[in-house]
Amino acid sequence: MTTTFYTMKYIKVTLAAIAALIISQTLSAQVPLKIVIGGQDTVYNQKHTLVCITDPGNVAAINENQLKVYRTGAFGTEIDLRRGNNKIEITLFKGKNRRIETINVYYDPDAKKPVRPEPKITLEEAKAIMEKSQYKEELFYGLSLDGAYLQFGDGDDRLGGSKMGYVDSGIVFKVVASVGNLYKVQLSQNKFAYIPQEYLERTDERTSQVNTGSWSVSNLGKADRVRISLPKRLPYVSWTQLDPTTICIDIFGATNNSNWITQYRGLQMISYVDYRQVDSDVFRVILRLKHKYCWGYKIGYEGNNLVIDVRHTPGLSLNGLRVGLDAGHGGSALGAVSITGIREKDVNLDIVNMLKRALEAKGATVVLSRSGDYDISMSERKRIFNENKVHIALSIHNNAGGSPVNPMGSSTYYKHITNRDFAETMLERLLELGVPNFGLVGNFNFSLAAPTEYPVVLLELLFMSSIWDEDKLVDPDFQKKMVNNIVLGLEDYLEKVDASIEEPVVKKKKRR
Ligand SMILES: [Zn+2]
Repeated sequence: MTTTFYTMKYIKVTLAAIAALIISQTLSAQVPLKIVIGGQDTVYNQKHTLVCITDPGNVAAINENQLKVYRTGAFGTEIDLRRGNNKIEITLFKGKNRRIETINVYYDPDAKKPVRPEPKITLEEAKAIMEKSQYKEELFYGLSLDGAYLQFGDGDDRLGGSKMGYVDSGIVFKVVASVGNLYKVQLSQNKFAYIPQEYLERTDERTSQVNTGSWSVSNLGKADRVRISLPKRLPYVSWTQLDPTTICIDIFGATNNSNWITQYRGLQMISYVDYRQVDSDVFRVILRLKHKYCWGYKIGYEGNNLVIDVRHTPGLSLNGLRVGLDAGHGGSALGAVSITGIREKDVNLDIVNMLKRALEAKGATVVLSRSGDYDISMSERKRIFNENKVHIALSIHNNAGGSPVNPMGSSTYYKHITNRDFAETMLERLLELGVPNFGLVGNFNFSLAAPTEYPVVLLELLFMSSIWDEDKLVDPDFQKKMVNNIVLGLEDYLEKVDASIEEPVVKKKKRR
């Protein structure tokens, strides 16, 4: 597919034709060639990927097929191998200088792939690993600390265990076991969760089942506030649902004794509130929203009162909007590194800086999670966005993996279902740039996608690992178009939200 792709675009020139045009000299030193992928001598796959680097502007051919040399100097293709030895000829021209290199790739379809030997570990190391993952029954009580969050299970991957959500500090948890660096905590008779050990400190306090008190629902100006009085801080988890848009919060260890709910008039986001006693010790708070789009909410305690602030929709124009921009990685975290050595952290920051200028030109205020090349933790990035009360946020990354010679494309990621439309809107604008669709990804367990306080999506603009994608990423014209389309995506989303609100929160003229 690749070969066809390139040859369609760039006239296929045979070596003979090139040679006839130019009186060539073989001067290897003046025509650099580095084989980055595919230089090995024995392979087991019939399709062989060969990627090389030379100087940008040189003419390159592999087995007489002229290939595009990208502005990074990279070129490559997929070659169909025959059984046995395959002579592959790489030809380069730089002006009048020519260089020809031949490599031999032996294709052995019957040979088994060499099995990598299991890394040897000592008995002590094996014991330590066993101990680390061992399930140990415990029984004590712990108090949650700042930044604590709950996980569904003890599963783990590159993004960490799947998160239930963040919880406030000062909540007493009953610990029933430890697994690795997690504590298993009992939320209710039938429900358990896991919490990283660093977020719990031992306490003499105990958990106990308590009764809920009265509620109030009022408009605070920038948010609608639900306040539920409780005699002590209890664990909770929240989630959102669509059709109709609803925020649900389960409070564990609580039994309904709320005999009245005072609902003040003039609420902007909440249509009505309700509750269910879903288990004898699980109390569910239901907040039905007026509009399709939820602009975020924050849950925490004020004293022992559980407070849920449902944020009002901001003015639906970039002018006056506070936009959080996160350039992925930084400092010692390089992110993905391309075949020619370009680092994702640098590309992300360049795009973020361009995006910042474009958004500021539209009147937006931009909050950067990182403004230079330094290490910064996920929790620090989130703290910056929350402290600056961003209205919306984008995390900018570039992907890696897949084919190094084929176009790979764009993808967008969300965690909460209420951000799905936002992610899809952004993806549609990225695809307008003529890049492949790598997909819309939901339930994405990435730390920066987890906040509920504002809409946030992650953009994996292109692939660092594809020479086609990389060429686009370093093309100043393409960068401009990409930044422009990200701005258009944000505007599209604001318009969608605007159109969904029957009574606009901010009365204003339609932009179009
Ligand atoms: Zn990244």
